[in-house]
Amino acid sequence: MTPRSTIVERFRSRFGGDPRVYRAPGRVNLIGEHTDYNEGFAMPAAIEFYCWVAVGAREDRRLHIYSEEFSAEADADLSSAARQPSKTWSDYPIGVALQLEQAGFRLRGANLLIESEVPIGAGLSSSAAIEVATALALADQSGWTPERLQLALLCQRAENEFVGARVGIMDQFVSLYGEKDHALMLDCRALSFASLLIPNSVKLVISNTMVKHELASSEYNRRRADCEEAVRRLREFLPGIRALRDVSAEQLEQYRSKISEVAYKRALHVVGENARVLDSAEALRSGDIARFGMRMAESHRSLRDLYEVSCPELDLMVDLAHQQKGVYGARMTGGGFGGATINLVDARYAGEFKEKMAKSYQRETGLVPQIYICRPAEGAGPFPSSDL
Ligand code: ADP
Ligand code: MG
Repeated sequence: MTPRSTIVERFRSRFGGDPRVYRAPGRVNLIGEHTDYNEGFAMPAAIEFYCWVAVGAREDRRLHIYSEEFSAEADADLSSAARQPSKTWSDYPIGVALQLEQAGFRLRGANLLIESEVPIGAGLSSSAAIEVATALALADQSGWTPERLQLALLCQRAENEFVGARVGIMDQFVSLYGEKDHALMLDCRALSFASLLIPNSVKLVISNTMVKHELASSEYNRRRADCEEAVRRLREFLPGIRALRDVSAEQLEQYRSKISEVAYKRALHVVGENARVLDSAEALRSGDIARFGMRMAESHRSLRDLYEVSCPELDLMVDLAHQQKGVYGARMTGGGFGGATINLVDARYAGEFKEKMAKSYQRETGLVPQIYICRPAEGAGPFPSSDL
């Protein structure tokens, strides 16, 4: 049975009536880490793990939401004015509903059943998937078809303001704009992208270290502050700059002595990483996967040594990957201090890669890693797409 028929049945038995179904994918970032909030470039791809939302109309102006993963129901009254976050999973869908209403999309009451294949908290952005699938479901249910870019921004704002996580736009953007077999080179300032074919001979293998260090969120905020400090100081000499995106490698060297050593290292990562994304895009355009892989290895070293957001488990995972057959490139992906690595692997060796990595990592750490073999997938929409 397709997920659609099972989710439809579950919806019927919980809420009654015939729902419409929407889905939105998780994502992995191939290269371009800690660049989004510096208004630079990133290269995510949507992956074949979807969050599904079945939606049906209600007579009142309430939302009744059930999450299969959390086995829990939440509800919200769309007519009551101020609403506080509950600090639970329901802040994601309810935050999205509030943002849609604030943007002028008046919503009808609805029942929602949520079911997700995106591993939660593994760095594959189950959060953007639930936001985007919910936004599409609620908007369409109420007869609205907002622009995709507006939806991405609304979902980001829901996560920033209602959930309280200071995330960039990458996750929501790629969940909406993802294309089968393609990565997106995302310009985080212009909010535009170029799609780049990932040849069928290559798999995206995501390997979860199964650790998440406490440091993650405080250090993330500190890195953002380091970058802001670098821009503030450099602006005294380069008045035209607005973000590290605007600084060249030469300019950074020229004014190195004017900024702190830490700010210099952070800036050096960001400036180098933006250049690596651009070069990786060129490599993909000319079908040079080996060159792409080299940029990934450099990206990892830069995140480890300059940006200092890696950890022993991520470094081990990358070292082990480099010892396997058929690997083009490997690096940490996501914010760091745990989470996952992304590996570009020759499709013929992907199965073997997964098996050997799991064994070696377990032998070294005692942890059993989750490893997913993926391909770039289509972005969010109704399911099946002939429905609309
Ligand atoms: P990631 O996005 O890397 O998976 P986050 O911490 O950003 O991790 O988001 C995970 C949170 O998103 C979950 O703790 C939960 O609150 C919410 N969420 C994701 N998927 C679901 C789901 N299927 N049902 C309910 N809440 C979900
Ligand atoms: Mg998230």
